[in-house]
Amino acid sequence: MNVLIINCGSSSLKYQLIDSETEQVQAKGLCERIGIDGRLIYQPAGGEKEVTEAPMPTHTEAIQMVLDALVNAKTGVMKSLDEVDAIGHRVLHGGAKITESCVIDQAVVDVIEECCDLGPLHNPANLKGIYACQKLMPGKPNVAVFDTAFHQTMPTKAFMYGLPYEYYEKYHIRKYGFHGTSHSFVSKETIKFLGLDADNSKVIVCHLGNGASISAVKNGKCVDTSMGLTPLEGLVMGTRSGDIDPAVVEYICNKENKTVSEMLNILNKKSGVFGLTKGLSSDFRDLEEAMADGNQLAADAIDIFCYRVAKIVGSYVAAMNGVDAIAFTAGIGENAPLIREKVCEYLGYLGVKIDAAKNNSRGKEVVISADDSAKKVAVVPTNEELAIMRETVALVK
Ligand code: AMP
Repeated sequence: MNVLIINCGSSSLKYQLIDSETEQVQAKGLCERIGIDGRLIYQPAGGEKEVTEAPMPTHTEAIQMVLDALVNAKTGVMKSLDEVDAIGHRVLHGGAKITESCVIDQAVVDVIEECCDLGPLHNPANLKGIYACQKLMPGKPNVAVFDTAFHQTMPTKAFMYGLPYEYYEKYHIRKYGFHGTSHSFVSKETIKFLGLDADNSKVIVCHLGNGASISAVKNGKCVDTSMGLTPLEGLVMGTRSGDIDPAVVEYICNKENKTVSEMLNILNKKSGVFGLTKGLSSDFRDLEEAMADGNQLAADAIDIFCYRVAKIVGSYVAAMNGVDAIAFTAGIGENAPLIREKVCEYLGYLGVKIDAAKNNSRGKEVVISADDSAKKVAVVPTNEELAIMRETVALVK
């Protein structure tokens, strides 16, 4: 089957066409500046990257351009759109009603719409992508794969906040968690790669990218995760603050005459390691370089990041009463040996020992713990598109 994977943001969309039999990507790229002017980036497997500037007033024109590129006589990878068998959409928020991926029908659209309040930037964009595909490829099955679904197995004690119960009843305020597709994929891969027993395993997945979250996965099911009602909770991230005392919001609002929305913008976009380094960078490559050049703020930001990761890992060892394996994934987790080493330095009490030579690796599936380490530590690259493709095929086959 040929599966088109669509991941819509408010002004951009990423896409991949994947052959489900070979699991090979046939073409991929992105549309940028949708609703502003418009740029299509398209790359067929083994071919050159093409950039086309063209107006894209809405996601429909953007997806139309993607489809045109895929069937282009010269550089396309299909003769016609009949060769697309299904479309898999990454959807941010499915609330508490959605516990797994689903074939999209009106009821699923209604839930995505209901959850727009909880994912105001992404859910409306995800819907635009779904409507555009339904319009441009009528009759093809569309599947929604939710970022929140994998975390729906969390028990009450993990997902409730200590707030008046009425806010849960009235507004569904609770922890939902995100990056679920990645946590699901990586936890399964880790179990396979390390030869663990899927029904008797305790795995902690550290998804450390620009957005970062950790999950505790017991017997293949998520029992806790670090992001919350929104992706702002938990780790210190590229530009997000992660956990802070909520009273900070009112305090800064009063001192700086800001609204709560302005503060949330600061917490989401101007905080994290970016804010901690006075805007030097949110990219760990830049921070590592600056630290090597003696920049103390960059060194502190890296320390703060690693310390928070280690504290959450420790709390999940407690939550599961043990751990068999810890997996690092996403941009930082896969590519930054220094960060993995610094995090694991805190885990000596668990008997974790890192093999420096094995840890000196980037982007590859590899065990980085020493042979005599009490716990296995591995790098397990994530692949959200592949995971969405597999979910889509499983539902439409
Ligand atoms: P992601 O959000 O998963 O795409 O991760 C992106 C982030 O990964 C970037 O912002 C960098 O902070 C980090 N990253 C990527 N490559 C490296 C590298 N070689 N060393 C350190 N950090 C990296």
